[in-house]
Amino acid sequence: MALHLFNTLTRSLQTFTPLDPAGKSVGMYCCGPTVYDFGHIGNFRTFVFADLVRRYLEFKGHSVRHVMNITDVEDKIIRRVRETGKSLRDYTGEYETAFWADHAALNCLRPHGTPHATEYISEIIALIETLMTRGVAYRTDDGSVYFSIEKYRGRGGHYGRLLNLNFDALRVGERVKSDEYAKESVADFALWKARAPEDGAVCWPSPWGEGRPGWHIECSAMSMKLLGASFDLHLGGEDLIFPHHEDEIAQSEGAGVQPPGQPFVKHWLHGAHLLAEGKKMSKSLGNFYTLRDLLAKGFTGREIRYLLLTAHYREPFNFTLDGLQAARTALGRLDECKRRLTEIAAGATGKVSAATISEGQRILGEFTAAMDDDLNVSKAWAVIFEEVRVMNAFMAVGKIEPNVAAHRLTICDQVFGCFGLTPPPPAVEAPAEIAALAAARLAARQARDFKRADAIRDEMKARGWVIEDTPKGPRLKRA
Ligand code: AMP
Ligand code: ZN
Repeated sequence: MALHLFNTLTRSLQTFTPLDPAGKSVGMYCCGPTVYDFGHIGNFRTFVFADLVRRYLEFKGHSVRHVMNITDVEDKIIRRVRETGKSLRDYTGEYETAFWADHAALNCLRPHGTPHATEYISEIIALIETLMTRGVAYRTDDGSVYFSIEKYRGRGGHYGRLLNLNFDALRVGERVKSDEYAKESVADFALWKARAPEDGAVCWPSPWGEGRPGWHIECSAMSMKLLGASFDLHLGGEDLIFPHHEDEIAQSEGAGVQPPGQPFVKHWLHGAHLLAEGKKMSKSLGNFYTLRDLLAKGFTGREIRYLLLTAHYREPFNFTLDGLQAARTALGRLDECKRRLTEIAAGATGKVSAATISEGQRILGEFTAAMDDDLNVSKAWAVIFEEVRVMNAFMAVGKIEPNVAAHRLTICDQVFGCFGLTPPPPAVEAPAEIAALAAARLAARQARDFKRADAIRDEMKARGWVIEDTPKGPRLKRA
């Protein structure tokens, strides 16, 4: 069966067909974090969703190029930089490091491209210049540049593809400068923001004077640079539909760089929000959780990931600590079944009957059919838990052959791999001299002597050990 995904562009389920004529390669962009604070578990719901889309496409045999940007300059960041007195790079660097550690704790695969907005300023400026040349962007007296919705529409552009907008309410020529605004304020939006006194040192030269890019143009420039002017999939949380993604379409298609008849993006996927304890997460309500908060309570990234993957991505999901506790129990049940199968499979000879193979195909077939239905994880988990129930019943009476157990384990591995829930290998004890090097590296990092820390890391690598920085501290692994 073909994969069907809900496309926000058409508001319907559509068969997913890549632009690649061979049907194999897929370009996928997900709007990444704004690194101004630690990521909360709502943010990570979206990144786990993106990771699932990638893993499932790979499971189906596609070769995915996954790009996720790091927003390291926008309104919120500038405000924090001003408040803390730090440099932009120092401020965002700290939260970016934390973000990647959290991302890894949730076993999300590192995207193939992770562009930073501040490294794409020349591409951003070039894109704005193209928009000006095409008459859909204009400079204002203060040296800012805005996108003209009226001119874009006049040239046949369709603004409001993702969200039905009421253009009678559009106040022609009105402008909105801030990066985030509601649909009631549909207006020309900023592509380039002239330097304001409160921006401090955060500015770059441009043909229009010193300033900085608007948030929306950053994603247009980076996604098209790394995936081409027209690509397959664009993801994000539902809050990004308007204005961020609507503006991305207008800017990217307004530049007229796509091959004739091709859109900027073929399929737009949006994940619903995560609520916490029944309400929008907020610090004042005491229901605001960063990933770190949950790790500090003793939960593992794998348990949190499992919980996030029990809900369909288009359904709002209510996070509770009780729910996380229940997720731990359910995952424990899966692991225990796998452990017992592994014990039985120790006696396997490698001979598998046709009936066992066909039963395995049935299970994988049902799993795939569920996931092909717009990533219906609830149905997919129902298939898996039914198998766990059946196998537990057979194991209870000693009725599973080692060869059958071994074959079922291969299915387990495929399903766990697809969900990114493969249990981590047992920790290896490092020899004393390697542990000493790791401690010396940590001390160097704490003293901000990154050169020495890197040299120690290289020395460890030469001795066959790598070090991973996790939210629970550095972890040693064999290289
Ligand atoms: P930000 O770091 O604010 O730019 O957000 C990063 C990603 O998290 C975006 O794709 C947002 O749409 C998404 N996001 C923000 N809040 C939530 C939430 N409560 N639930 C799910 N996704 C969210
Ligand atoms: Zn974006």
